[in-house]
Amino acid sequence: MYPPSFDYYAPTSVDEAVRLLDQHQGEAKVLAGGQSLIGMLKLRLAQPGALIDINRIPDLSYVREDATFLRIGAMTRINELHASDAVKARYGVLFDATAEIADPTVRNWGTVGGNAVHGDPGNDLPACFLALDAEYQAQGPKGSRTIAARKFYTDSFTNVLAPNEIVTEIHVPKAAAGSGSAYSKMERKVGDFATAAVAVTVTLAANGSVAKAGIGLTNVGPTALYAAQASDALVGKTGTATDLGTVGDLAAKAASPVADNRGPVDFKQDMIRVWTRRTVTRAIARAKGGS
Ligand SMILES: Cc1cc2nc3c(=O)[nH]c(=O)nc-3n(C[C@H](O)[C@H](O)[C@H](O)COP(=O)(O)OP(=O)(O)OC[C@H]3O[C@@H](n4cnc5c(N)ncnc54)[C@H](O)[C@@H]3O)c2cc1C
Repeated sequence: MYPPSFDYYAPTSVDEAVRLLDQHQGEAKVLAGGQSLIGMLKLRLAQPGALIDINRIPDLSYVREDATFLRIGAMTRINELHASDAVKARYGVLFDATAEIADPTVRNWGTVGGNAVHGDPGNDLPACFLALDAEYQAQGPKGSRTIAARKFYTDSFTNVLAPNEIVTEIHVPKAAAGSGSAYSKMERKVGDFATAAVAVTVTLAANGSVAKAGIGLTNVGPTALYAAQASDALVGKTGTATDLGTVGDLAAKAASPVADNRGPVDFKQDMIRVWTRRTVTRAIARAKGGS
């Protein structure tokens, strides 16, 4: 099907893009990599009056690590994030997830900002950003603000961003010494959206127990989910079989999947239980220096 007609704008600055969004009063959509939006236009699930293409805005594509954050420009392509040396060395959860999103073409076009903002519960990066306790920096007509990823998602394809705001950067807290993270995704076939997936981050104390933890879940709820009780239960533990059992059960309890062509509810919850145990084990091994 052809998309309905729309006006097209290609601003060359964030200010200009925000001004255009503001002028269209909720009738315009940002176009980033187009890997989700173009499909929705063609299916007429989205019918915006205008597209604001932000591909020509310079300086929105980078991965930089400073004293406080790993800073990811919103227009960084998923493959560019995967290729970052810092990500490979210290942010295993992002390295794993970016290897498993769709296929190389989608990863070459799709952007980190688009994946984070779109709000499809099947998108892989939101659960990673929940586990990492990342923030999204958004710019609107009144300036910029930062929004915690854990407060960003309100329902499927719905978030707290105003229609005249653009996400410009994602801030991931800099990986501390003794930290490790991992992402495990169960998919029906290579390139599919997750049946269920788990993102885990841990920071170990000097005695080897977990001092800080974050667990995010993909495609087992209306949005990516932060498994707060499971994350809290991991603190102070070392990853014994009993610890893993408790944390896996709590993560499964946090999941609220629906039955669909990827499987029934019980199966998906069980996948979360098992995948959480395995992913916590991998994250702890990486925190201890494993690959
Ligand atoms: C065949 C196929 C398979 C896929 N499989 C997976 C998968 O397994 N896992 C996965 O995670 N994803 C998957 N995707 C989705 C893909 O990763 C998308 O690229 C991503 O979800 C959206 O990024 P985009 O840059 O293409 O955004 P667009 O499609 O351009 O935009 C998506 C939405 O986000 C908004 N938006 C984009 N950028 C911004 C911004 N900076 N500020 C404010 N709003 C913004 C747009 O207005 C739009 O509403 C798949 C896509 C396809 C086509």
